[in-house]
Amino acid sequence: MGGAFTKEIYPLWLFLLYFFAVTASWIWKGLQKCKEYLIAGSCLNVSMNSSDCIWTTAWVPTLPSYRPSPRSPNSRYLHHLSISDLIMPGTRCWNKCLLLTLFDPISAMAVGRLPISDESQKVYLWIPSASGRFSTFSAYLSILNNDFTGSHLSPLSSFWRDIRKLQLTDRLRIFIWKIAWNIFPTIQRLQPIIPTHRPDAFCPLCKGGPDSLRHLFFHCHFARVVWRLSSWPLDSTTLDSPHLCDWVRVILYPEALLHIPSLELHRFQVFAAVACDLLWFHRNKAYHEGMSFDARNLARQIVTTYHQHCDAWSAKLRPTLEKWIRPPLNWHKLNFDTAIRDSFSCQAAICRNHEGRLIVIIALQQPSIVQDWRITDIIHQTLDMFPPDSSWSARKVNRSANFGAHYVAHWAAAQFSSSSIPTLSSSTYSPTTQFVSVALDPNLRNSVV
Ligand SMILES: [Zn+2]
Repeated sequence: MGGAFTKEIYPLWLFLLYFFAVTASWIWKGLQKCKEYLIAGSCLNVSMNSSDCIWTTAWVPTLPSYRPSPRSPNSRYLHHLSISDLIMPGTRCWNKCLLLTLFDPISAMAVGRLPISDESQKVYLWIPSASGRFSTFSAYLSILNNDFTGSHLSPLSSFWRDIRKLQLTDRLRIFIWKIAWNIFPTIQRLQPIIPTHRPDAFCPLCKGGPDSLRHLFFHCHFARVVWRLSSWPLDSTTLDSPHLCDWVRVILYPEALLHIPSLELHRFQVFAAVACDLLWFHRNKAYHEGMSFDARNLARQIVTTYHQHCDAWSAKLRPTLEKWIRPPLNWHKLNFDTAIRDSFSCQAAICRNHEGRLIVIIALQQPSIVQDWRITDIIHQTLDMFPPDSSWSARKVNRSANFGAHYVAHWAAAQFSSSSIPTLSSSTYSPTTQFVSVALDPNLRNSVV
């Protein structure tokens, strides 16, 4: 979001701030409403040269309204400081004494934990997103969170989450989402909005029922033929419901609602989505272009398209596991992972040489620390600790290539949880540093993947 805000959206942001009229169009009022959500969800990413005021700027994402509270009522008026004034000159460290002087203890602690970026330009973070980057979807969720309370339409309910998880193309997922909202412009849907809009119109496909989604998907002669000739010869009229959300639920959970075997779950979902999509497509062709179709031909076309989707998904879903790879000659490779528990975390690292031989295993327990969710700066600070030469390199590896460190971290966490000392013969354990290391244990060496 930061880049987008500074380069493209931020000028619009300023524009929206200052120009708004009561008599503005509904589109303009909609943009104005969006501005409120954008302001409520954005926070400055602190850098070494942030010159913004410490009291009026939203810059501490873990505090209410993203602003620190003064230690005393007078602090706010006595100290007109910018954020960079709180940073030790020439470093990326906070002036802890100054923080405690200016802010109440909670605010001082929150500010003290903020990573300091070395960005040269002003960047904003989008707080509703875990990555800090703005996306239309995260903004959509943020807006809906304010409009729905507890209903099944809550954007956080599993219903919407499961629609997003459907293994369908993006276009079909959005199509299912639109069905749930019943927002397709059928005559029946448009009638309350435009009363004179062809009140006598019938289904463009069969001319034997109202032009509505319920008719098109459940009662239309075309829909009944499509389902009768499918691998699941259902009577589509029995699926009808006043709420199209119920039909979407059938697509999401066919095991529970239609007793479809779990092995056929995905294929059923693909067929249902493709069938609805092509029924709607041909309805539009018939309505706008006056074309007529044969129900059996349409059913065959749907089956063909369904098989094409299934073939594409079977290739895409084939698992591709990445394996651990030996480092080059005379190099040592260090894999590490973390196991998170309620009261502590446990980091484990495994060092192996170019032959894949185990050199050392190390595991370290730490108390629970509330870390800021933005880790980009932390990663950069970690990389800064190493000399910028070619004697080392760091890279992210797939989880499947990191099973060794993963299992050791979980093993060590289990040891610490039970307060037991590891039993391996060559291990060492220090209760003061909460540190365990295992060196060249032949049994363990063989057990690590
Ligand atoms: Zn029809």
